[in-house]
Amino acid sequence: MKALVIVDMQNDFMPGGALGVRGADQIVPLINQISKQFPLTVATQDWHPLDHCSFATNHPGKKPGDVVQIKEIEQILWPVHCVRSTQGAELIETLDKGPIASYFYKGTDRWIDSYSAFFDNARRKSTGLSDYLKTRNVSQVYLAGVATEYCVLYSAFDAVDLGYTVFVIADLCRPINLHPDDEKKAFEAMAAKGVKIQNSTEVLASLKSK
Ligand SMILES: [Zn+2]
Repeated sequence: MKALVIVDMQNDFMPGGALGVRGADQIVPLINQISKQFPLTVATQDWHPLDHCSFATNHPGKKPGDVVQIKEIEQILWPVHCVRSTQGAELIETLDKGPIASYFYKGTDRWIDSYSAFFDNARRKSTGLSDYLKTRNVSQVYLAGVATEYCVLYSAFDAVDLGYTVFVIADLCRPINLHPDDEKKAFEAMAAKGVKIQNSTEVLASLKSK
C-alpha cells in the first residue's frame, strides 16, 4: 500500500511567513490533485514550544543561520517559527484537508529539533508515524512538501532505514537553499540512499494505472 506524507505545509514556511520557503505556496494545487489519488495521505506539522532550542532568539548573541551544539547535536538556528497552536503553525488554508487521514507533530520537545517526520534529530523519540503506517500495511512512502534539504531529506532517510520503498516527488518539494547547492546535494544524497526521485506526472500515472 502507498501512502503520501505531506511535510510541513504550514503558514510560517510559506512566502512571507516567519521562515518562508520560496515557491512553497505554488505546489499546493498539485499536492491537492495528487493527495486525492493516494489510498492514504497524512500530514506533518512542525510544532514547537516558544522556548524551542532551534530558535535563535533563545540563544543570546546568536542569529538565524548560526550553528550551535545542543546536547552533542549540531543545531542550525532559525527564526521563531511554527510555535504550536499559533496561526503560523497551521497548515496553509489552500491545502485540501479532506484526504488527510491523520496529522503528526514534530519538534515538540524544547531540547531537541526534529526535521524528520518519523524521529527527532537524536532518534530518541518517534512521532508515531511509522507505527501508524505499519499497522496500515504501507510499504511505499511518497514525500512532498518543505523544505527539500531538511524535513523532506531527513524523512526520506528515516523511511529508507525503516524499510519502506521511498519516493520523493521532486516538483512538489521546495528548498530553503541557505547555500545555493543545498537542494541539488539533497537530491543527490537521497538518490544515493536509494530514494526514488519522481515527478508528479509519473506518480499520478503510476497511481492511475492501478
Ligand atoms: Zn522547526
